[in-house]
Amino acid sequence: MSNISWRPETKLIHGGFGPDDKTGATAMPIVQSTAFAYRSAEDIEAVFAGREAGFLYSRIANPTVSAFEARITALEDGLGAIAVSSGMAAVSSLVLALAGSGDEIVAGSSLFGGTYSLFRHTLSRYGIGVRFVHPRNPAAFRDAIGDATRLVFVETIGNPKLDVPDIAAIAAVTRERGVPLVVDSTVTTPLLVQPKRLGADLIVHSTSKFINGHGNAIGGIIIDAGTFDWSSPRFPHLAPFRARVGQFALLAALRNRICRDFGCCLAPFNAFLLNMGIETLGVRMERHCSNAARVAAFLATHPKVAETGYPGLDTHPDHDLANRQFGGRYGALVSIRLGTREPCFRFINSLRLAKNLANLGDTRTLVMHPASTICRDLNATERLAMGVTDDLVRLAVGIEDPADILDDIERGLATL
Ligand SMILES: *Cc1c(COP(=O)(O)O)cnc(C)c1O
Repeated sequence: MSNISWRPETKLIHGGFGPDDKTGATAMPIVQSTAFAYRSAEDIEAVFAGREAGFLYSRIANPTVSAFEARITALEDGLGAIAVSSGMAAVSSLVLALAGSGDEIVAGSSLFGGTYSLFRHTLSRYGIGVRFVHPRNPAAFRDAIGDATRLVFVETIGNPKLDVPDIAAIAAVTRERGVPLVVDSTVTTPLLVQPKRLGADLIVHSTSKFINGHGNAIGGIIIDAGTFDWSSPRFPHLAPFRARVGQFALLAALRNRICRDFGCCLAPFNAFLLNMGIETLGVRMERHCSNAARVAAFLATHPKVAETGYPGLDTHPDHDLANRQFGGRYGALVSIRLGTREPCFRFINSLRLAKNLANLGDTRTLVMHPASTICRDLNATERLAMGVTDDLVRLAVGIEDPADILDDIERGLATL
C-alpha cells in the first residue's frame, strides 16, 4: 500500500500498510508470536534460504514491526528500513554494519549524549576510531575523511546545542569522497525534513521521541535511502550480500547479520504503539513547533534569561539555514541560559506543568538541566564543544495550550 505520490501527512496514516487482508482491521494488529509455522520442511527451507519471503522468528522480522518499517520507508522515500529496539540500537547497529576493527567514522561533534558516548568511549574498545569535526564546517569533513572512513554521521539539529549542519554541503563532500552520509533526524522527524532530498544515504530515528509521540515506547529505525552503491571498495564485507540481493545489500546485512546476531529487535507491542502514535505526527509537529516558537519568542525578551537558543529565532546563527532546510519549522527544543547552575535548579523546581525528565518529543512539556543529567559523563572540554554549559536548561515544548506553558515558565522565572 505504499503510494509514493501521497504527501507526508497522508503517508503517516495510509503509507506502508492498509486494512488487514483477512479481517479488515485498520489498526495493524499486534502479532505477538515468537515464531511462525510452515507446513513442510521444504517450505521453511525456502524461507531460510531466502528463496521465498516469510516470517520465521520475531528476533529477525515480525509482521507488526514490518508494517512500521514500511510506513517509515514510505515517509522517507527509502529503499527499505529496519526497526530496532531503541534509537541507540539504530545508531550502534548501523555503525557495526558498516565499520569493523581498524576502520574509522567521522561525526559532527554536536551530538545526542548517548551517541557521543558510544562514539567517544565504546567504539574504540571494538577497534573503531572516531574523528569529531565541527558540524558547521563542511571542509572539516573533507579533511577528516580518509581511506579507513566507513561513514559520516550528523544530526539535523544538535541536541542540546541546537546548532544546524548544512546537510546538503556535507553530502556534497561525502559523495565526492565516496562515503555514506548518515543523518539522525530524530528531532526533525520525516515531516520537517526528508534527509534523502539533501543527499543523506542513510537516516536514523529514535522513534521513542516524536514518532511515538506519547512517551510510552522505546524504539529506533534505520532507513537506507537507496542512494549509495554498496559495491564500493570500502565495504568488501557486503559483497556476498550484494551478490544475493543487489542494492538491498546493507539492509540484508543489517537484518541477517547485525540484528540477528546482536538481537536488538523491536517488540511487536512497541511497534503497535509506534504505528498508532505516528498517525498523529502531522498535527502534533505543527503544534509542537508553533508552541516552541511562542515559548522561544517569550524567553528571548525576558530580562531573567541571559540567552535563548532556538533555530527559529532570527538571532540564531543558523536561522537562515534552518529555515531553508526545514521549511520554516524549527522543532520543539528550546534552550535557555540563566547565568549559573543555581537559578536553573530553582527554575526547574518551581515548574508545575513541565515535567523534569530525560526525554523529548512527548505530548507533555519537558524540562531538564543537561550538565547534571544526560551530559554529566562528559568532561569540561567535551561539554564546551557540545554547548552544555552549567547554566543551560533545555525545554522540549509539548502540545498543551501554549498559554498554560507560558504561564508555567513565567511563574518559574519569577522565582529567580
Ligand atoms: C533520544 C535520541 C537518541 C537515542 O534514542 P533512544 O531511543 O533513547 O535510544 C538518538 N539520537 C537522538 C537525536 C535522540 O534524541
